[in-house]
Amino acid sequence: MSNHPWGIVGHEWAVAQLAQSMRSGSVAHAYLLSGVAGIGKTLLALRLAQALNCRTGQDGPCLNCSVCRRMERGHHPDLRIAGMATQAAGLKAEDAARQKELKIGTVREWQRDINLRPYEAQRRIFILHDAERLNEEASNAMLKTLEEPPPYATLILVAHSTELLQTIVSRCRLLRLRPLPRHQVASTLEERGVPAERAALLAAWSGGRLGWALQLIEQPDNLARREEQLGELIALHGQTASAGMRWAEQRAKEYRTGEQESVFAWLELWQSWWRDLLLTAAGYAEGVINVDRRPELERAAARYALPAIHRFTTRIGQAAQQLRENGNPQLVLEQIVLQIPR
Ligand SMILES: [Zn+2]
Repeated sequence: MSNHPWGIVGHEWAVAQLAQSMRSGSVAHAYLLSGVAGIGKTLLALRLAQALNCRTGQDGPCLNCSVCRRMERGHHPDLRIAGMATQAAGLKAEDAARQKELKIGTVREWQRDINLRPYEAQRRIFILHDAERLNEEASNAMLKTLEEPPPYATLILVAHSTELLQTIVSRCRLLRLRPLPRHQVASTLEERGVPAERAALLAAWSGGRLGWALQLIEQPDNLARREEQLGELIALHGQTASAGMRWAEQRAKEYRTGEQESVFAWLELWQSWWRDLLLTAAGYAEGVINVDRRPELERAAARYALPAIHRFTTRIGQAAQQLRENGNPQLVLEQIVLQIPR
């Protein structure tokens, strides 16, 4: 870890920019960290909170003082964290499953706290996860705080995408995290004891999301599940529409019962396959994610016209976006399976 500034692998430009703003005293009162799931947003938010309060007073967190350590464990009175998970805490499972957006109550509770002076640290830090799920009312409430934040408070919003947050984006310093280079993910996995060949495969699959890859090595069952799911998706391409509708129905049911992230993972996996087909068809096969399935990709890519592959790849991304915008899961998923190129 020691050779990585702030104990973060990758995102060097973001860390450098934050450290520079700390040195020059131009820290923003609000940040928005965006990027796909598993890319490192949560860790960067935590490191920024630590950096702003570290007892060493340098331009980064020492990760060793009592403030850094307690924040790391989530036990510091001046660090408040909210998001879909805290909103659902304490609810009955079925009610928690129905939660789709961040509500005004969650933001209000968070705001009540913001006007308090720091208990012991220099700044009070507020991290709000899943900011793309703020509903309109909550978003408006949020804007008020962003316009006039107390001088000793720093807000860190964390979001998968910024498309729904235009007014909020304009009031925050935006750090858009990008996927890490594949070799960086692979070498980090190797440093953590993953054999080289496996590390290379996982790094390819991860699409540059180190957090995602680390989670996979901790939960080997998920690897098997990924293989199974990809097999099921590829099979769908050759099956009847009714098989597709059954698949859509199952996913919609998962979505409604609180397994939203699992449905997003399905769509992401599916999109990775079509993006690979696109790369293969266009002659850039070295960039594919599913490196272990190259021969299959070659065969499949030959079956479609390039524009059709491109269109469907984009459509899968749009379907995910529609779900995030609260589209009806059954309709969104049925439409996408009906549009599989034949
Ligand atoms: Zn420290």
